[in-house]
Amino acid sequence: MFEAFILRPDALTVWEDREVRERLSWYYEVMVNAKPAKFIIARKTEVVENPYAIEDIEELWKLHDKASAHFQKLYKDVREGSEEIKDYSSSSQPEYSYLDVKIAIAWKLFDPCRLCERRCGARRLRGQPGVCLMSDKCIVHSAFLHLGEEAPLVPSGTIFYGGCNFKCVFCQNYDISQVNARGGVVVSSRELAEIQEKLRLRGARNINHVGGEPTPHIPFILESFKYLSVNVPQLWNSNMYMSLESMKLLLDVIDIWLPDLKYGNDECAWRLSKVRNYWSIATRNIKMAHDSGDMIIRHLVLPGHIDCCTRPVLEWIARNTPRALVNVMDQYRPEHLVLKYPDKYRDIARRPKREEILRAYKIAEELNLAYKQVS
Ligand code: SF4
Repeated sequence: MFEAFILRPDALTVWEDREVRERLSWYYEVMVNAKPAKFIIARKTEVVENPYAIEDIEELWKLHDKASAHFQKLYKDVREGSEEIKDYSSSSQPEYSYLDVKIAIAWKLFDPCRLCERRCGARRLRGQPGVCLMSDKCIVHSAFLHLGEEAPLVPSGTIFYGGCNFKCVFCQNYDISQVNARGGVVVSSRELAEIQEKLRLRGARNINHVGGEPTPHIPFILESFKYLSVNVPQLWNSNMYMSLESMKLLLDVIDIWLPDLKYGNDECAWRLSKVRNYWSIATRNIKMAHDSGDMIIRHLVLPGHIDCCTRPVLEWIARNTPRALVNVMDQYRPEHLVLKYPDKYRDIARRPKREEILRAYKIAEELNLAYKQVS
Protein backbone atom coordinates (compact mmCIF):
# COMPACT_ATOMS: atom_id res chain seq x y z
CA MET A 1 0.00 0.00 0.00
CA PHE A 2 2.76 2.41 0.87
CA GLU A 3 5.43 3.35 -1.57
CA ALA A 4 8.93 2.51 -0.40
CA PHE A 5 11.34 5.39 -0.55
CA ILE A 6 14.52 6.38 1.18
CA LEU A 7 14.30 9.95 2.33
CA ARG A 8 17.41 11.98 1.58
CA PRO A 9 19.14 12.76 4.88
CA ASP A 10 19.15 16.49 4.09
CA ALA A 11 15.35 16.41 3.84
CA LEU A 12 15.31 15.83 7.60
CA THR A 13 18.25 17.96 8.71
CA VAL A 14 17.14 20.95 6.64
CA TRP A 15 14.52 21.77 9.29
CA GLU A 16 17.25 22.27 11.87
CA ASP A 17 18.28 25.33 9.89
CA ARG A 18 16.70 28.35 11.58
CA GLU A 19 16.67 30.36 8.36
CA VAL A 20 14.71 27.68 6.47
CA ARG A 21 12.32 27.12 9.38
CA GLU A 22 11.54 30.83 9.66
CA ARG A 23 11.19 31.54 5.98
CA LEU A 24 9.00 28.50 5.33
CA SER A 25 7.11 28.65 8.62
CA TRP A 26 3.56 28.53 7.21
CA TYR A 27 4.43 25.69 4.84
CA TYR A 28 6.04 23.77 7.71
CA GLU A 29 2.96 24.10 9.94
CA VAL A 30 0.67 22.79 7.23
CA MET A 31 3.12 20.06 6.25
CA VAL A 32 3.10 18.66 9.80
CA ASN A 33 -0.70 19.09 10.02
CA ALA A 34 -0.51 21.72 12.77
CA LYS A 35 -2.46 24.20 10.58
CA PRO A 36 -4.97 23.77 7.76
CA ALA A 37 -3.84 24.55 4.20
CA LYS A 38 -5.09 27.81 2.75
CA PHE A 39 -7.56 26.07 0.43
CA ILE A 40 -9.31 24.66 3.53
CA ILE A 41 -9.56 28.13 5.05
CA ALA A 42 -10.83 29.48 1.70
CA ARG A 43 -13.60 26.91 1.56
CA LYS A 44 -14.56 27.63 5.18
CA THR A 45 -14.99 31.31 4.27
CA GLU A 46 -18.70 31.55 3.58
CA VAL A 47 -20.33 33.72 0.94
CA VAL A 48 -24.08 34.17 0.94
CA GLU A 49 -24.64 34.50 -2.80
CA ASN A 50 -24.42 31.65 -5.31
CA PRO A 51 -21.38 32.64 -7.43
CA TYR A 52 -22.25 30.13 -10.15
CA ALA A 53 -25.48 32.04 -10.82
CA ILE A 54 -23.66 35.34 -11.42
CA GLU A 55 -22.95 36.03 -15.09
CA ASP A 56 -21.16 39.36 -14.84
CA ILE A 57 -17.46 38.84 -14.11
CA GLU A 58 -17.17 42.31 -12.54
CA GLU A 59 -19.85 41.32 -10.01
CA LEU A 60 -17.90 38.14 -9.32
CA TRP A 61 -14.72 40.09 -8.69
CA LYS A 62 -16.55 42.33 -6.22
CA LEU A 63 -17.77 39.23 -4.39
CA HIS A 64 -14.24 37.81 -4.55
CA ASP A 65 -12.64 40.88 -3.01
CA LYS A 66 -15.24 41.02 -0.25
CA ALA A 67 -14.69 37.34 0.55
CA SER A 68 -10.91 37.86 0.40
CA ALA A 69 -11.16 40.33 3.29
CA HIS A 70 -13.05 37.72 5.36
CA PHE A 71 -10.52 35.08 4.39
CA GLN A 72 -7.64 37.29 5.54
CA LYS A 73 -9.22 37.71 8.96
CA LEU A 74 -9.83 33.97 9.36
CA TYR A 75 -6.34 33.14 8.06
CA LYS A 76 -4.76 35.55 10.54
CA ASP A 77 -6.77 34.07 13.42
CA VAL A 78 -5.89 30.52 12.39
CA ARG A 79 -2.24 31.44 12.02
CA GLU A 80 -2.10 33.12 15.40
CA GLY A 81 -4.02 30.29 17.07
CA SER A 82 -7.11 32.22 18.17
CA GLU A 83 -9.23 30.18 15.73
CA GLU A 84 -8.97 26.47 15.04
CA ILE A 85 -10.23 24.43 12.11
CA LYS A 86 -10.40 20.79 13.05
CA ASP A 87 -12.47 19.20 10.32
CA TYR A 88 -10.53 18.92 7.04
CA SER A 89 -13.08 16.79 5.22
CA SER A 90 -14.61 18.07 2.02
CA SER A 91 -18.12 17.52 3.40
CA SER A 92 -17.52 20.21 6.02
CA GLN A 93 -18.02 23.40 4.02
CA PRO A 94 -20.77 26.01 3.66
CA GLU A 95 -23.09 25.89 0.67
CA TYR A 96 -21.01 28.57 -1.08
CA SER A 97 -17.55 29.69 -0.14
CA TYR A 98 -14.70 31.96 -1.21
CA LEU A 99 -13.31 28.92 -3.03
CA ASP A 100 -16.55 28.64 -5.06
CA VAL A 101 -16.19 32.28 -6.11
CA LYS A 102 -12.67 31.53 -7.34
CA ILE A 103 -13.87 28.49 -9.26
CA ALA A 104 -16.72 30.45 -10.88
CA ILE A 105 -14.28 33.17 -12.03
CA ALA A 106 -11.71 30.63 -13.23
CA TRP A 107 -14.24 29.05 -15.59
CA LYS A 108 -15.02 32.47 -17.02
CA LEU A 109 -11.29 33.08 -17.65
CA PHE A 110 -11.09 29.68 -19.34
CA ASP A 111 -13.10 30.63 -22.44
CA PRO A 112 -12.06 32.79 -24.19
CA CYS A 113 -8.86 31.92 -22.39
CA ARG A 114 -6.89 34.56 -20.52
CA LEU A 115 -5.48 32.39 -17.78
CA CYS A 116 -1.97 33.44 -18.76
CA GLU A 117 -0.55 36.68 -20.11
CA ARG A 118 -0.50 35.34 -23.65
CA ARG A 119 -4.25 35.99 -23.47
CA CYS A 120 -4.57 34.01 -26.68
CA GLY A 121 -8.36 33.85 -26.34
CA ALA A 122 -8.71 30.19 -27.33
CA ARG A 123 -12.31 28.98 -27.23
CA ARG A 124 -11.29 26.10 -25.05
CA LEU A 125 -14.79 24.93 -24.15
CA ARG A 126 -15.35 24.40 -27.88
CA GLY A 127 -12.25 22.22 -28.02
CA GLN A 128 -9.97 24.86 -29.52
CA PRO A 129 -6.42 24.49 -28.18
CA GLY A 130 -4.53 27.57 -27.05
CA VAL A 131 -0.87 28.42 -27.61
CA CYS A 132 -0.20 26.10 -24.65
CA LEU A 133 -1.83 23.26 -26.67
CA MET A 134 -4.49 22.68 -24.02
CA SER A 135 -8.21 22.82 -24.79
CA ASP A 136 -11.18 21.68 -22.70
CA LYS A 137 -9.55 18.81 -20.73
CA CYS A 138 -7.24 18.55 -17.78
CA ILE A 139 -4.38 16.30 -18.86
CA VAL A 140 -2.00 14.65 -16.41
CA HIS A 141 1.12 12.86 -17.64
CA SER A 142 2.35 11.47 -14.33
CA ALA A 143 1.94 11.83 -10.57
CA PHE A 144 4.43 10.44 -8.08
CA LEU A 145 6.55 11.11 -5.00
CA HIS A 146 9.42 13.18 -6.33
CA LEU A 147 12.64 12.84 -4.35
CA GLY A 148 14.75 15.18 -6.45
CA GLU A 149 13.20 18.52 -5.45
CA GLU A 150 14.68 20.94 -2.89
CA ALA A 151 15.32 19.40 0.55
CA PRO A 152 12.37 21.04 2.37
CA LEU A 153 9.99 19.71 -0.26
CA VAL A 154 10.80 16.01 -0.54
CA PRO A 155 9.06 13.71 -0.88
CA SER A 156 7.00 15.99 -3.06
CA GLY A 157 3.65 14.78 -4.41
CA THR A 158 4.28 15.99 -7.93
CA ILE A 159 1.61 16.20 -10.63
CA PHE A 160 2.91 16.76 -14.16
CA TYR A 161 0.25 18.49 -16.28
CA GLY A 162 0.36 18.58 -20.08
CA GLY A 163 1.06 21.65 -22.20
CA CYS A 164 2.92 24.88 -21.61
CA ASN A 165 2.51 28.54 -22.50
CA PHE A 166 6.32 28.83 -22.97
CA LYS A 167 8.20 27.38 -25.92
CA CYS A 168 11.63 26.95 -24.37
CA VAL A 169 14.11 25.70 -26.96
CA PHE A 170 16.01 23.84 -24.22
CA CYS A 171 12.95 22.38 -22.43
CA GLN A 172 13.84 19.22 -20.52
CA ASN A 173 10.17 18.17 -20.37
CA TYR A 174 9.47 18.96 -24.02
CA ASP A 175 7.66 15.65 -24.54
CA ILE A 176 4.82 16.62 -22.17
CA SER A 177 4.98 20.39 -22.66
CA GLN A 178 5.29 20.66 -26.43
CA VAL A 179 5.62 17.50 -28.50
CA ASN A 180 3.07 15.15 -26.95
CA ALA A 181 1.28 17.58 -24.65
CA ARG A 182 -2.15 15.99 -25.14
CA GLY A 183 -0.86 12.43 -24.81
CA GLY A 184 -1.45 12.07 -21.06
CA VAL A 185 -4.49 10.91 -19.10
CA VAL A 186 -7.65 13.03 -19.05
CA VAL A 187 -8.76 13.57 -15.45
CA SER A 188 -11.80 15.18 -13.89
CA SER A 189 -11.50 17.57 -10.95
CA ARG A 190 -12.68 14.78 -8.62
CA GLU A 191 -10.02 12.44 -9.98
CA LEU A 192 -7.43 15.16 -9.50
CA ALA A 193 -8.46 15.35 -5.83
CA GLU A 194 -8.15 11.55 -5.53
CA ILE A 195 -4.62 11.71 -6.95
CA GLN A 196 -3.70 14.34 -4.35
CA GLU A 197 -5.20 12.31 -1.51
CA LYS A 198 -3.27 9.21 -2.53
CA LEU A 199 -0.01 11.15 -2.74
CA ARG A 200 -0.52 12.66 0.71
CA LEU A 201 -1.38 9.30 2.26
CA ARG A 202 1.81 7.86 0.78
CA GLY A 203 3.88 10.52 2.54
CA ALA A 204 3.90 13.57 0.26
CA ARG A 205 4.92 16.73 2.11
CA ASN A 206 3.09 18.85 -0.45
CA ILE A 207 1.18 18.70 -3.72
CA ASN A 208 3.47 20.07 -6.39
CA HIS A 209 1.54 21.39 -9.41
CA VAL A 210 3.96 21.46 -12.34
CA GLY A 211 4.20 20.47 -15.99
CA GLY A 212 4.62 21.55 -18.64
CA GLU A 213 2.89 24.33 -16.79
CA PRO A 214 -0.04 24.19 -14.36
CA THR A 215 -1.53 27.59 -15.36
CA PRO A 216 -3.72 26.30 -18.24
CA HIS A 217 -5.32 23.88 -15.73
CA ILE A 218 -6.25 26.41 -13.02
CA PRO A 219 -10.06 25.84 -13.07
CA PHE A 220 -9.62 22.07 -12.64
CA ILE A 221 -7.05 22.53 -9.87
CA LEU A 222 -9.24 24.97 -7.94
CA GLU A 223 -12.23 22.69 -8.38
CA SER A 224 -10.23 19.70 -7.09
CA PHE A 225 -9.79 21.58 -3.77
CA LYS A 226 -13.55 21.31 -3.24
CA TYR A 227 -13.31 17.52 -3.16
CA LEU A 228 -10.04 17.15 -1.27
CA SER A 229 -10.42 15.55 2.18
CA VAL A 230 -6.81 15.67 3.35
CA ASN A 231 -4.78 18.54 4.65
CA VAL A 232 -1.74 19.14 2.47
CA PRO A 233 0.30 22.23 1.48
CA GLN A 234 -0.37 23.32 -2.09
CA LEU A 235 2.77 24.20 -4.06
CA TRP A 236 2.78 26.21 -7.31
CA ASN A 237 5.77 25.24 -9.49
CA SER A 238 5.56 27.58 -12.44
CA ASN A 239 7.09 29.95 -14.96
CA MET A 240 4.89 32.65 -13.34
CA TYR A 241 3.44 33.96 -16.58
CA MET A 242 -0.09 33.89 -15.19
CA SER A 243 -2.48 36.74 -15.98
CA LEU A 244 -3.13 39.17 -13.15
CA GLU A 245 -6.61 37.66 -12.76
CA SER A 246 -5.16 34.14 -12.36
CA MET A 247 -2.69 35.45 -9.80
CA LYS A 248 -5.54 36.87 -7.76
CA LEU A 249 -7.30 33.51 -7.85
CA LEU A 250 -4.21 31.64 -6.66
CA LEU A 251 -3.01 34.00 -3.95
CA ASP A 252 -5.21 32.75 -1.11
CA VAL A 253 -5.03 29.02 -1.90
CA ILE A 254 -1.32 28.37 -2.51
CA ASP A 255 0.79 27.70 0.59
CA ILE A 256 4.24 27.70 -0.98
CA TRP A 257 5.50 29.04 -4.30
CA LEU A 258 8.29 27.55 -6.39
CA PRO A 259 8.73 30.04 -9.23
CA ASP A 260 11.34 29.94 -11.96
CA LEU A 261 13.02 33.24 -12.69
CA LYS A 262 14.86 32.36 -15.87
CA TYR A 263 15.83 35.48 -17.78
CA GLY A 264 17.07 38.89 -16.77
CA ASN A 265 15.64 40.66 -19.83
CA ASP A 266 12.92 40.40 -22.48
CA GLU A 267 15.27 39.74 -25.41
CA CYS A 268 16.62 36.44 -24.04
CA ALA A 269 13.07 35.43 -23.05
CA TRP A 270 11.77 36.05 -26.57
CA ARG A 271 14.66 34.30 -28.31
CA LEU A 272 14.70 31.22 -26.06
CA SER A 273 11.08 30.85 -24.85
CA LYS A 274 9.03 32.91 -27.35
CA VAL A 275 7.32 35.04 -24.70
CA ARG A 276 6.80 38.82 -24.71
CA ASN A 277 7.21 41.19 -21.74
CA TYR A 278 8.70 38.39 -19.69
CA TRP A 279 10.54 40.50 -17.14
CA SER A 280 7.69 42.76 -16.03
CA ILE A 281 5.14 39.91 -15.90
CA ALA A 282 7.28 37.31 -14.11
CA THR A 283 8.63 39.80 -11.57
CA ARG A 284 5.15 41.27 -10.96
CA ASN A 285 3.75 37.81 -10.19
CA ILE A 286 6.71 36.66 -8.11
CA LYS A 287 6.54 39.83 -6.01
CA MET A 288 2.80 39.35 -5.42
CA ALA A 289 3.30 35.71 -4.45
CA HIS A 290 6.23 36.54 -2.18
CA ASP A 291 4.18 39.13 -0.33
CA SER A 292 1.45 36.57 0.35
CA GLY A 293 3.29 33.33 1.10
CA ASP A 294 6.39 31.20 1.52
CA MET A 295 8.70 30.87 -1.47
CA ILE A 296 11.73 29.16 -2.96
CA ILE A 297 12.87 30.86 -6.18
CA ARG A 298 14.72 28.78 -8.76
CA HIS A 299 17.21 30.19 -11.17
CA LEU A 300 18.74 27.85 -13.72
CA VAL A 301 22.18 29.11 -14.76
CA LEU A 302 22.36 29.19 -18.57
CA PRO A 303 25.82 29.00 -20.15
CA GLY A 304 26.96 32.38 -21.41
CA HIS A 305 24.05 34.17 -19.69
CA ILE A 306 25.61 35.23 -16.40
CA ASP A 307 25.74 38.96 -17.16
CA CYS A 308 22.48 39.27 -19.09
CA CYS A 309 20.37 36.90 -16.95
CA THR A 310 21.88 35.49 -13.74
CA ARG A 311 23.18 38.77 -12.35
CA PRO A 312 20.01 40.88 -12.93
CA VAL A 313 17.82 38.01 -11.68
CA LEU A 314 19.75 37.62 -8.42
CA GLU A 315 19.98 41.38 -7.93
CA TRP A 316 16.23 41.70 -8.38
CA ILE A 317 15.61 38.92 -5.87
CA ALA A 318 17.88 40.57 -3.31
CA ARG A 319 16.01 43.87 -3.67
CA ASN A 320 12.43 42.67 -3.96
CA THR A 321 11.86 39.30 -2.33
CA PRO A 322 13.98 39.26 0.82
CA ARG A 323 12.01 36.45 2.51
CA ALA A 324 12.47 33.99 -0.36
CA LEU A 325 14.95 31.15 -0.33
CA VAL A 326 16.85 30.82 -3.58
CA ASN A 327 18.07 27.79 -5.47
CA VAL A 328 20.79 28.63 -7.99
CA MET A 329 20.68 25.56 -10.22
CA ASP A 330 23.68 24.14 -12.05
CA GLN A 331 22.07 21.27 -13.93
CA TYR A 332 21.41 22.85 -17.33
CA ARG A 333 22.07 20.56 -20.27
CA PRO A 334 21.27 21.11 -23.95
CA GLU A 335 17.98 19.44 -24.93
CA HIS A 336 15.17 19.62 -27.46
CA LEU A 337 15.71 22.27 -30.20
CA VAL A 338 19.16 23.20 -28.89
CA LEU A 339 20.31 19.66 -29.65
CA LYS A 340 18.62 19.75 -33.03
CA TYR A 341 19.93 23.16 -34.09
CA PRO A 342 23.19 23.66 -32.17
CA ASP A 343 24.42 26.36 -34.56
CA LYS A 344 21.30 28.46 -34.11
CA TYR A 345 21.54 28.23 -30.31
CA ARG A 346 25.29 28.15 -30.10
CA ASP A 347 25.40 30.14 -26.83
CA ILE A 348 23.50 27.48 -24.90
CA ALA A 349 24.56 24.35 -26.83
CA ARG A 350 26.82 23.22 -23.98
CA ARG A 351 26.73 22.69 -20.23
CA PRO A 352 27.73 25.67 -18.07
CA LYS A 353 31.42 25.73 -17.22
CA ARG A 354 32.46 25.26 -13.62
CA GLU A 355 33.73 28.84 -13.43
CA GLU A 356 30.33 30.11 -14.61
CA ILE A 357 28.54 28.23 -11.83
CA LEU A 358 31.06 29.46 -9.27
CA ARG A 359 30.52 33.00 -10.52
CA ALA A 360 26.77 32.61 -10.09
CA TYR A 361 27.25 31.35 -6.51
CA LYS A 362 29.60 34.23 -5.79
CA ILE A 363 27.05 36.79 -6.98
CA ALA A 364 24.41 35.13 -4.75
CA GLU A 365 26.81 35.20 -1.82
CA GLU A 366 27.73 38.85 -2.35
CA LEU A 367 24.04 39.69 -2.38
CA ASN A 368 23.60 37.74 0.84
CA LEU A 369 20.96 35.45 -0.66
CA ALA A 370 19.94 32.42 1.39
CA TYR A 371 20.43 29.77 -1.22
CA LYS A 372 22.72 27.02 -0.04
CA GLN A 373 20.28 25.40 2.33
CA VAL A 374 17.91 24.25 -0.37
CA SER A 375 20.22 23.43 -3.25
S1 SF4 B 1 -3.28 29.33 -20.73
FE1 SF4 B 1 -3.03 28.54 -22.82
S2 SF4 B 1 -5.01 28.88 -23.81
FE2 SF4 B 1 -4.92 30.16 -21.97
S3 SF4 B 1 -4.19 32.18 -22.62
FE3 SF4 B 1 -2.41 30.98 -21.95
S4 SF4 B 1 -1.64 30.00 -23.83
FE4 SF4 B 1 -3.71 30.69 -24.27
